[in-house]
Amino acid sequence: MPAILSPQRIQDLTQIEQRQFALARPQSQALSVEASEHMLYGVPLHWMRDWPLPFTLFIDQAQGAHLTDVDGHRYVDFCLGDTGAMFGHAPPALADALASQVALGMTAMLPSEDAVEASRLLSARFNLPFWQFTLSASDANRFVLRWARAITGRRKVLVFDGCYHGTVDDTLVDYDQGQTHWRASLLGTTHARPVDTVAVEFNDLAALEAALRSGEVACVLAEPVMTNVGMVLPQPGFWEAANTLIRQHGSLLVMDETHTLSTGPSGYCGEHRLQPDMLVIGKAIGGGLPCAVYGFSASVASRMQNAKDHAPDGHSGIGTTLSANLLTTRAIRTTLESLMTTAAYAHMGQQAESLARGLEAHITRHDLPWCVTRIGARCEFQFCSVQPRTGQEARAAMNDALEALIHLYLLNRGVLITPFHNMLLVSPHTRPDDVSRLLAAFGDCLDALCA
Ligand code: PMP
Repeated sequence: MPAILSPQRIQDLTQIEQRQFALARPQSQALSVEASEHMLYGVPLHWMRDWPLPFTLFIDQAQGAHLTDVDGHRYVDFCLGDTGAMFGHAPPALADALASQVALGMTAMLPSEDAVEASRLLSARFNLPFWQFTLSASDANRFVLRWARAITGRRKVLVFDGCYHGTVDDTLVDYDQGQTHWRASLLGTTHARPVDTVAVEFNDLAALEAALRSGEVACVLAEPVMTNVGMVLPQPGFWEAANTLIRQHGSLLVMDETHTLSTGPSGYCGEHRLQPDMLVIGKAIGGGLPCAVYGFSASVASRMQNAKDHAPDGHSGIGTTLSANLLTTRAIRTTLESLMTTAAYAHMGQQAESLARGLEAHITRHDLPWCVTRIGARCEFQFCSVQPRTGQEARAAMNDALEALIHLYLLNRGVLITPFHNMLLVSPHTRPDDVSRLLAAFGDCLDALCA
């Protein structure tokens, strides 16, 4: 019989851990109070208060695979800025390159040679010939949707239930009983319903085909593996079949590899030989500096150029002033040249594999109905015995109270994992003893839960 965890036990342990967190962090607590004077919720970005902590944890510095907080506690970081720092915090090659570029100028509304080299490296690595640069993956996705609509003359965007592609209005939707709704938590929507977005379940080819048949879908925007609702793998053959359908119906396939860049040096699409029409990569592509890129095929490029050439003079609605600035193009070039190496990925994959096996061993030891999924450097444990196949199944496996306890328990023992689900990311700087530390704390947490 699989073990059943008592909600009362979870609550009791959470109270103990909250007290321990607060007692050990007087500086963070004092800063939290001070921060409330001039920042909404006492944080520079309101959702930083959504971490499951009694008050905000303030960081002093981050290096390699480690963070130090303002109270002097050192953590092994398996969150890595939710992927932004996947290649480590302040990697020396990047820190040096940025320091020298800062002295030579940061933004000019004109490119430097770094952009030429970065686009050449991107093309060689990701098998798409043309590239554009933005400030965030959200922006890249927003602009890609605009281009897709412009070149197809179609209005609709198709996404999968449980997706997250950043703060892109068109994609902040949920699917429920055949209908696409705004995500319930969304603030400030205008239309009662999303008018130009269709959501279907991931891995559901019949639903995808039915939606494409309308002939209104400009593009399908997807992560090759869903990573923001827990993790959901594509079923074998799903993407090959989906891409055939997408092409047949005159739509474009846009892959958002912002998180799945963890799979290997050329992302999930490169590893699995998938050929999207457009590809978005954010976060880690600039080693943690705010920037992102999107690539596209030659045929998409010529359609984009045609759309732009035939538009009246003026603003396309695509691009922001600081995009492709001198500093971030230097960061992207350096990341591609020096950080995203085959050796770095080999190390990350190895450490993530021992992490995944270790998590599974603890789960099995306690007979818990949980599963572990890994793509390259990224692991996720989920509170369901079988890996979910849809966003709905993944959402059903979530347990906020249990998740919050595990995160807090680990944090109190010097291990940070990604909030809002159970993602653990390994960097080239993560050492075997860092992985052992996480596994020991995770094992102790399960012992305490199941006692
Ligand atoms: N795409 C994916 C797959 C993401 O997970 C995220 C953020 N978690 C984004 C895009 C947006 O990235 P950003 O917040 O840096 O704009």
